[in-house]
Amino acid sequence: MKRKVLSMVLAASMIAATLVGCGGGEAAPAATSEPAAEAPAAEEEAPAAEEAPAAEEAPAADAAAPTGNKVGVSMPTKDLQRWNQDGSNMQAELEAAGYEVDLQYASNQEETQVSQIENMINGGCSVLVIAAIEANSLSTVLEKAKSANIPVIAYDRLIMNTDAINYYATFDNYKVGVTQAQYIIDTLDLDNVDGPFNMEVTAGDPGDNNAPFFYNGAMDTLKPYIDAGKIVIPSGQVDFATVGTPKWATETAQSRMENILSSNYADGTQLDICLCSNDSTSLGVQNALAANYTGNYPIVTGQDCDIANVKNMIDGKQSMSVFKDTRTLASQVVKMVGQILSGETVEVNDTETYDNGTGVIPSFLCEPVFADVNNYKELLIDSGYYTEADLQ
Ligand code: BGC
Repeated sequence: MKRKVLSMVLAASMIAATLVGCGGGEAAPAATSEPAAEAPAAEEEAPAAEEAPAAEEAPAADAAAPTGNKVGVSMPTKDLQRWNQDGSNMQAELEAAGYEVDLQYASNQEETQVSQIENMINGGCSVLVIAAIEANSLSTVLEKAKSANIPVIAYDRLIMNTDAINYYATFDNYKVGVTQAQYIIDTLDLDNVDGPFNMEVTAGDPGDNNAPFFYNGAMDTLKPYIDAGKIVIPSGQVDFATVGTPKWATETAQSRMENILSSNYADGTQLDICLCSNDSTSLGVQNALAANYTGNYPIVTGQDCDIANVKNMIDGKQSMSVFKDTRTLASQVVKMVGQILSGETVEVNDTETYDNGTGVIPSFLCEPVFADVNNYKELLIDSGYYTEADLQ
């Protein structure tokens, strides 16, 4: 009976999900007593979906909801620095809030992630927080979560084509790409200088729903300059399917860039811009440049402020990154978990942008922040994210 009541409360809280805090720029009827998030207002450029907000369409709970206090946290891999931070931040905050935590990393293996989630369901988790390895690979296992009435929060990456997802918490992914592109525009003064400048593009994992958002944010912003002939792409490799990097692998980005350099730049052609969607792919591109390119060093973008990349920004091998403070995202998710389990209104700030194929998922978007050699100390060291010694 108690479980039935919680399931009804959960359904009601999803219906009542409202727009507050950062992101979206929507008129926000703030129906929650929670203060708005710390993060500032989001980008107007974020692609607006046409569908109506999905709060009302969120899957209604029709089975008994678990009442325990165990939270399953499924992370993709320990290989990339950020997921270690995401996982440990969330574990620490959830435990401090009195929850038991089952934190698992899946070594970037989709089957491993599925079986870990299955174990979380069988092991009595009351809420699942999942950063998917592959956006479409979790439908079957999440059917089981839905049948057991376990709410699911998609973490950072949207999980596609399943109606078992209740909420999504991420950074404004489109804005990450806009920030990278704006840096290129400002640095080369593209509003006043004709160029042409040569650019090569390295995007993310086609299996990660975030990757096209980063790519589109950047390419939409650069389009007028490409159309005007101020930016050209000598390799001709530009569409997302061609420039993607499966699993975001550094080695894959490196070998692709080596091929591009030998086919298009070996004759001394100057490369001016390497648009890289994130830090792991950016590292691959930087390795390729170090070994195969002798012209003037290009602008090289990134995302995440991983330690290796911040060191490279200090050394002049990477021009900028985009800082996504995993502490902020983890705190937001911990807050959402608490709101779900206590039947409160769950705080979201975007009910338009992220349709996972079954409807728009009520989302909370945190704010990504531009980072370069001039502000990294304030952003990363003064805020306690890294120590000076980490960056030595
Ligand atoms: C995340 C990025 C990360 C990438 C590779 C994306 O989903 O949003 O921050 O760099 O995955 O792990």
